[in-house]
Amino acid sequence: AGRWSLLGATALVTGGTKGIGHGIVEELARLGAAVHTCSRNEADLNKCLQKWEAEGFKVTGSICDVSSPDEREKLMEKVRSTFDGRLNILVCNAGTGILKPATLQTPEDYRYVMSINLDSAFHLSQLAYPHLKASGRASIVFISSVVGFMAVDYLSVYGASKGALNQLTRSLACEWAGDNIRTNCVAPGTIRTPLTEQKRVEHRVAVRFEGCNDDFVTKETHRIPLGRVGEPEEVAALVGFLCLPASRYINGQVICADGGRTVNGNI
Ligand code: NDP
Repeated sequence: AGRWSLLGATALVTGGTKGIGHGIVEELARLGAAVHTCSRNEADLNKCLQKWEAEGFKVTGSICDVSSPDEREKLMEKVRSTFDGRLNILVCNAGTGILKPATLQTPEDYRYVMSINLDSAFHLSQLAYPHLKASGRASIVFISSVVGFMAVDYLSVYGASKGALNQLTRSLACEWAGDNIRTNCVAPGTIRTPLTEQKRVEHRVAVRFEGCNDDFVTKETHRIPLGRVGEPEEVAALVGFLCLPASRYINGQVICADGGRTVNGNI
């Protein structure tokens, strides 16, 4: 396979049934990889697997709640047996947020967000390590967020989980480079997915705490130099690149796909 192909590569993408993860599964499969994905909802997963099979993509899947250590171990066992112990690509995409003022985030809220966004990424990386190493040429991509760099109201726990992912990227990039495992991270801005639809609804609830009624989407769009929110495939393209042999000298980077949002001083 050439520099711009993933033919013969194997990949695990968490949370592939919706939004950004769905786009990443399709991008990697289109580049030639055999992909395994997971989500918590069996009906959604089966629907996606059927669609991908009809399109000729090599995608398998299993039910896994990545917040559970036991289920993570089962997922990696499934990946090991499916791919004969060799994994070229790990994309930790599954993630979520709970929009609430910091004073109202409960211990359960905190645990829920941290276990899905951060604990799972660290533990899955540990579990994948022998298989990534065995593949001879591997790439880990974490999906963090621009909220890992800049404060957004009501996303304190989410932001902390994403900031930690950004630093985990740099640590693993150095620790595992000798095993030919690169580690990078993609930080999306606002992307049109089921998660942001839900966030918008929750935001309207959350802003009532402050007695303000600004329109989140309109305000946000004005802050993005490209003047619009992004689409899942616009994040997936960058993830695909970071998995390709073409990016083989890129290691330890956190790259935003945000339409210029984080560099805009004109706000
Ligand atoms: P969505 O909620 O639209 O999709 C999330 C996907 O992950 C679904 O397939 C969902 O399936 C799965 N998932 C969620 N929780 C779990 C879990 N505990 N175990 C297994 N699978 C799970 O999210 P997005 O596509 O918007 O977000 C994807 C990633 O991108 C997240 O890490 C998010 O933080 C990040 N991001 C998103 C941005 C955006 O604007 N959309 C901006 C910045 C970052 P199911 O619920 O059935 O399990």
